[in-house]
Formats: sequence, structure tokens, C-alpha cells
Amino acid sequence: MSVTAIVGSNWGDEGKGKITDYIAQNSDYVVRFQGGNNAGHTIINKYGKFALHLLPSGVFYKHTINILGPGVALNLEVFLRELENLKERNVATPTIYISDRAQVILPYHILFDELEEKRLSDVSFGSTKKGIAPFYSDKYLKIGIQLNEIFNEKRLQERLKNTIVQKNVLLKHLYNHNEITTEEIIKYIDKYKNQIKPYIQDTTLMLNTALKENKNILIEGQLGALRDPDHGIYPFPTSSSPLAGFGSVGAGIPPYEIKKIVAVTKAYSSCVGAGPFVTELFGEEAHELRERGGDAGEYGATTGRPRRVGWFDCVATKYGLTIQGANEVALTNLDVLGYLDKIKICVKYETKGEQYNTFPVTQLLEKSKPVYHELEGWKEDISQIIEYSKLPDRAKNYVKTIEEIIEAPIKWISVGPKRKQMIIL
Ligand code: GDP
Repeated sequence: MSVTAIVGSNWGDEGKGKITDYIAQNSDYVVRFQGGNNAGHTIINKYGKFALHLLPSGVFYKHTINILGPGVALNLEVFLRELENLKERNVATPTIYISDRAQVILPYHILFDELEEKRLSDVSFGSTKKGIAPFYSDKYLKIGIQLNEIFNEKRLQERLKNTIVQKNVLLKHLYNHNEITTEEIIKYIDKYKNQIKPYIQDTTLMLNTALKENKNILIEGQLGALRDPDHGIYPFPTSSSPLAGFGSVGAGIPPYEIKKIVAVTKAYSSCVGAGPFVTELFGEEAHELRERGGDAGEYGATTGRPRRVGWFDCVATKYGLTIQGANEVALTNLDVLGYLDKIKICVKYETKGEQYNTFPVTQLLEKSKPVYHELEGWKEDISQIIEYSKLPDRAKNYVKTIEEIIEAPIKWISVGPKRKQMIIL
């Protein structure tokens, strides 16, 4: 068999958790390939409601092997806590492995994230303050710590010693903060290293062996295409690539094995954090959509922050699907729009009287205004409908209109947060 990627086509929070949970029913492996505990996948199943920040979405299935690939940012404490939380909530202990090449988020990554957001104040990037940007910066500065290194005290001491010198200059002179010591970082690592040890494996070897054995592998992206550092809304992206293409790197599998790329998009738009958001709604209209969105309102699964919401943006989504290389689309949260008389979709952008349907660079995006096409609402509860033919005509029209403009096949329509609330086309 081959590899399926489930990724976001927008700003994140598209409902990937639910789609991954659904598709994982038939997967032997579920792999996280980038990011850390800075975003959450919401999954609602027979055990209850879970916001998974770090664990792959396959942890609820006994038959699934879950993997955190080398591209992931590993918070040791959060990993162990999330596993413990599953146990407390009667979920059978999942099979899970972490790549020995994955790097660890250290306390100073989180500290620097907090201090920098505070320093930038009202021009901050809206970081979730989980240490992700400082973590990936260190990785590419080649001062990150791989998981395999935490068991080699001498090596760890030496590598940390040099890093901490640099960190302390910034702490003291830029942030006016107390200095840190190598000892306290080692103490932090020592607290978790024995507990984490049984999970560490050469996951790249494991996955490539699985491919030879024709296993089904699912790789799940965090956040969405528009948060990609190269192709997204720079300087407001996340710090690792959420694109399916990077799945090959971050999971450790050959690129040609990723045959199916399912991009998840929401039937309206939502966005957490700073950056241009062309179809954003404000005031009462935004409030109502935010309260009705998702399974319990549009509030961040990690931060609890209210998400910015807006109309469906065909321009941004089509671009997101292109850079994901999506060959299937999953449209989620269609049920949420059932209260509206009229529903708008953004079909083009406009700047200074000029209209275009391509997604521009950030400084032009900031000046772009939405050009809307208005559709009739269906004014009905569709959350129990699981056959496409039973959807109201106006809901079908909404789906088909979007499909035509984004030029990609919508194969999945999610009409509620639960696993069974799904229409497959
Ligand atoms: P992810 O990060 O892409 O997995 O997205 P989140 O899980 O953070 O956000 C999606 C939200 O929508 C969560 O609250 C889900 O429970 C919810 N959700 C997913 N699909 C549907 C759907 O079809 N309808 C409704 N009403 N909620 C959904």
C-alpha cells in the first residue's frame, strides 16, 4: 500500500483531527511529521473529547502504531502527560514511538518565546509560547539537542555549555532576565529521560520496513498550508513546514510514496494568531459564527484564544490546495452554516480596483479586499445526514460551487464533530 497525507489547506484548525481519526481506522501507522504541542487536534470518540497536542491521532486504535518523526518538536513533559491523560480516561495504552533524531524542546525555548512576545508587545506574532520558534531556530543553528543525545551526559554537557553562553548574553542584555545554567537544563532532562527511553526508536527504518511490507501509513500535518514558512503568510507562518511535501522529510519516507494527499478545509474560515485574513468578520456576525463553530465554538484547542472567523475564501483555499498538492478535499463543519439566510464565499481579491484570483505575497494580501459571491442558505440541521443525496439542494449547491472554484474534488463532507457524522462522495 502507500502513504496518505492529511494536511490543512488554510490557517490550521480545519478539522484535521476528525478526518485523521476517521481515516486512521484503516491505517497501520499514524505519523506526526512536524510541529510540536503548539496546536491541537480535537477528536471526539467513544472515550470522550480529546485535544491532542503532540500525540498522533491514531492513539485511540489498538491496531495502530503511532510515530513522532524526526521533524517533530518534542516537549518531553507534554508527551508523557498526554499519554498519562489517555490512561486516566480509560484509553488502552497506545503503541507509540519517537524518532531518535527528533529534537527536544528545552525550558529556555519556552522562556525565549515568552520573553520575545513580551518584548514585541503589540507587534508580536501571536505565538502560542510553547517554544516552537526558538526550537526550530536552534535546530537550524545546529545547537538543538537530538533525543539520542540526552543519554550521553558528556556530549550533552559540552553541547549545552556552548549554547547557554549565547543564551545568557541575550537573557541578560536584551531581556534583562536572570541567567540560566547548564545544570538546570540537565536536571530538567534527567527528570524525564528514563520515562521517555522506551519510546525511542529508529522510526525511519521502521517506516521504510513497513512500506516494504505494504502497510498503510497515514502522515498527519499540523496547522495549514498558509502557515508554511516558504509559501505562507510570512512573517506570520509557523516555524516548520505543514506541507505534505515536507511529510517525506519530517517522517522519513520516500517522497514518491505519498500517493494520496487529503487537504482539509472548513466550510467557513478561521484563523488563530496574527497576519492578514481577507474574509475576516467582525462584531455580531463574527460572534455568532464563532459561537456556533466547531464542536464548542471557535476557541483555540491549545490556548483557548477566540479564533478569528470569516467567510470561506476560495482564493486562499485554492492556493493552499495547490501548495499541498492535494488530490482530495475534505470539507468540514458544513453543519455550522445551517443558521444563515445567505452565505458568502470569497471568489476573488481586489486591490485598487483591480481584481485577481491568485494569492499574493503578504504585503499585497494585507491590502486585498474580498470580492464575494452570495449563496442561499439551507436553514436546516444537516448534522445527521450521512448521504450526499439527502443534503438540501442549497447545501449541495454550496459544496458544488466551492468545488468548481477551487478546482479540486471534495470527497469528504463532515457534518458534525463525531466520527459517524461524515458524508463520503
Ligand atoms: P485541527 O487542528 O485541524 O484538527 O482542528 P481542530 O480540532 O482544532 O478544530 C476543528 C474543530 O471543529 C474542533 O472543535 C472539532 O471538534 C470540530 N469539528 C470537526 N469537524 C466538524 C464538523 O464537521 N462539524 C462541527 N460542528 N464541528 C467539527
